[in-house]
Amino acid sequence: MERKDDGRLEGRTAIVTGSTYGIGEAIAKVLSSEGAISIITGRTEKEGERVAEEIKTAGGSAEYHHLNVTDEEEVAEVTRAVYEKYGRIDILVNNAGIGGPSKPTHEYTREEWERVFDVNVTGAFLCSKNVIPYMKKGGGGNIVYISSIYGIVGSQDNPAYHATKAANRIMAKTGANIYAKDKIRVNSVHPGFIWTPLVEDFLKDQSEKLGVAIEDLRSELDAAHPIGHIGEPEDIAYGVLYLVSDEAKFVTGTELIIDGGYTSR
Ligand code: NAP
Repeated sequence: MERKDDGRLEGRTAIVTGSTYGIGEAIAKVLSSEGAISIITGRTEKEGERVAEEIKTAGGSAEYHHLNVTDEEEVAEVTRAVYEKYGRIDILVNNAGIGGPSKPTHEYTREEWERVFDVNVTGAFLCSKNVIPYMKKGGGGNIVYISSIYGIVGSQDNPAYHATKAANRIMAKTGANIYAKDKIRVNSVHPGFIWTPLVEDFLKDQSEKLGVAIEDLRSELDAAHPIGHIGEPEDIAYGVLYLVSDEAKFVTGTELIIDGGYTSR
């Protein structure tokens, strides 16, 4: 994705959690194509360095930091390092997330349940908690929680995932209320199914359990979206770009659904 001149996010620093691949990678690339300095984070160094290099090759600015969002010390270290280097943190996208086991509630162990909460809820909390003081020092900022359509409607899959994504939705609304006076806008984005390693793994798991071919499951998933197919990571990234740009200066506490019509039924 080529870097544009005079981008909408010129010189702003953007931390995108879980941007080593999947939706986070696309978000980091779209933000840097509009002039942001993208801070690529995640646990897979090789992939993080790849994303940062690809952004730089396209004329943008990026650097990779190892970050496990459940490690409070590491979150504090990375946010401090970014602030000390750039003097500001303008954007945080809480994107890192896991699906967790797809099975009914009564079959979940407490450990499995807490693992999903640890990454999807506590991880997002820790990142917001550490970034907000820097945003306040800088006179404002933008936080986006990547929730899901599963934070809005129920299904027969992943009960822990549903609960965490609903938590992300309300974390954004609460943050919007608390930090409006500090000029920090907080919003959530709710993707429908997007083709990434997370969905690929989910379909593999379902295929083994149900004995149905992955291609058939993929067709079913496509048909569940009125638009006729599942989405691409960039579909979500452009929604995030809008929310963190000045064009959305009156937008806070909102939930942007990008789902090919899935929840419109
Ligand atoms: P993905 O392909 O599995 O990518 C997940 C990203 O999160 C990776 O960069 C991974 O990096 C990172 N991550 C996982 N655990 C982490 C941890 N403990 N600390 C830091 N980073 C961690 O998933 P995706 O589909 O892109 O999903 C991204 C977000 O969108 C998630 O919050 C997901 O719930 C949400 N979402 C996805 C869909 C979909 O259909 N794909 C739909 C709705 C919502 P490392 O492995 O390098 O750490």
